[in-house]
Amino acid sequence: ITDKINALPEGANYFSLEFFPPKTSMGFANLQNRLERMSQALRPLFVNVTWGAGGSTATKSLELAEICQRQLGLTTCLHLTCTNMSRALIDDALEQARALGIRNILALRGDAPRSEEYRDEGQLPEDDSNKDFTWAVDLVRYIRKQYGDYFCIGVATYPEGHSDQSHPEAQDPKFDLPYLVEKTKVGADFLMTQLFFDVEAYDKFETMLREHESGVFKTIPIIPGLLPIQSYQILKRVSKLSHAKIPADITARLDAVRRDDELVKQVGIDVLSEIVDHLKGRPSPTRRGFHFYTLNLEKTVSHILENCHLIPQPLVDDDDDAIELTPGADF
Ligand code: FAD
Repeated sequence: ITDKINALPEGANYFSLEFFPPKTSMGFANLQNRLERMSQALRPLFVNVTWGAGGSTATKSLELAEICQRQLGLTTCLHLTCTNMSRALIDDALEQARALGIRNILALRGDAPRSEEYRDEGQLPEDDSNKDFTWAVDLVRYIRKQYGDYFCIGVATYPEGHSDQSHPEAQDPKFDLPYLVEKTKVGADFLMTQLFFDVEAYDKFETMLREHESGVFKTIPIIPGLLPIQSYQILKRVSKLSHAKIPADITARLDAVRRDDELVKQVGIDVLSEIVDHLKGRPSPTRRGFHFYTLNLEKTVSHILENCHLIPQPLVDDDDDAIELTPGADF
């Protein structure tokens, strides 16, 4: 991913699209068709495939990653969590990823396992499943130790702070900073953020990182995470789960149309397009990119990308003919 970012012409923007593995084979077939359409029409720099905490979607995540990387020829970033995962499961995931030709991992802790809470209450016996991996930094370190530079590694970061049961006080980005510095020092190549709607909070956060005394964030790609608004209810639910603040002016615009799903989507497209345009206007030491949490949906993200002129031209060959996206080729 970082090689591809660095190879972009100066001033170019890029974007990535995130997908989660569907539960059923019908869902997979539908998503595969959609992915084919989206990859040809939108041409993301890369796609992300999520991982269920504790490995709950391991097989399906790898199946989806295979479709993306092998069948559709998309540069794929596989998410991998480490808490509540045995070392064997992590080794297996990394080996399978390598065998599929995947070169990018988003190294995550995952959410605190339930057993941890029970264990704290003395209700569960200790097991050794996650002694090696407590925080995401443990996974970053492990991947570097086992695979050297084979994988390009991304890590998660939180413009409005990470809210966590183990650190209820942590809803302040400054709290996470020493750990983010560590994740970066031990081998992260890029940062990808939690979704947000509060651009002021994001601006402050990005400036804080770029100016950090450690110097480790000076030039690293920081990719802001954006959630296209699919419906009023989904927005409320997701922003509550992610602790993303919705600024009053955005709330007012959405509240005014909340009973009309189509209008909510339209206002959402406008809001997200404004956020992208704002961020495009901010100076950045690397090419500026955007990550979209698609929720496996196509239309709203397509409109935002079109509005913001983020869709790159198709590749052309020597005769200036558009090259078809060939399955198996790595674009
Ligand atoms: P960490 O970097 O380990 O941080 C977790 C918390 O612990 C933070 O509050 C941090 O400040 C604190 N901390 C870190 N290190 C230490 C230390 N050494 N000592 C004390 N405190 C410490 N979850 C999934 O299950 N699957 C996914 O596919 C997925 N994709 C995601 C993609 C993105 C872009 C983002 C932003 C999040 C994603 N998540 C996913 C959610 C993520 O797993 C959770 O937010 C999780 O609670 C934290 O993961 P992390 O990698 O940020 O953890």
